[in-house]
Amino acid sequence: MSTAYDPSNIFGKILRGEIPAHKVYEDEQTLAFMDVMPQGEGHTLVVPKAPARGLLDADPESLAALIRVVQKVGRAVKQAFQADGLTLFQYNEPAGGQTVFHLHFHLVPRHEGVPLKRHEGGMADQAVLAEHAARIRAALEA
Ligand code: 5GP
Repeated sequence: MSTAYDPSNIFGKILRGEIPAHKVYEDEQTLAFMDVMPQGEGHTLVVPKAPARGLLDADPESLAALIRVVQKVGRAVKQAFQADGLTLFQYNEPAGGQTVFHLHFHLVPRHEGVPLKRHEGGMADQAVLAEHAARIRAALEA
């Protein structure tokens, strides 16, 4: 069963500037910003500007642009946190674990032996998120 895109979702609001986010990268087609409930230090989200509920209804052109930015921001995130690895995840529909219905990739830098925190665990401190976003922006500019 397919469900229509609903622009009132929280990432739609971030894209329209209606609510704030700690942004790390933006271009014509994509936006990347910190996850407010990080599953690890540096947990970043990358979203297309074009409306799409998930991977399966996204326009392939928009997806191609998105995955390029996932790689670009992924490199910066890994470098900014001097991580050993990088975990990506992307959920589709409630049964697939999705809670915000605007397509997004999660990027979490990983360190050997450090487990991921719970999905939708605690809210991070805003000042910490701002500092982490600045670190990633600096890595993108390096
Ligand atoms: P999903 O389960 O849909 O893949 O994950 C949605 C993600 O969005 C969660 O990791 C959650 O922490 C994050 N999130 C929820 N509300 C907000 C918000 O208002 N701002 C930001 N930056 N992230 C959010």
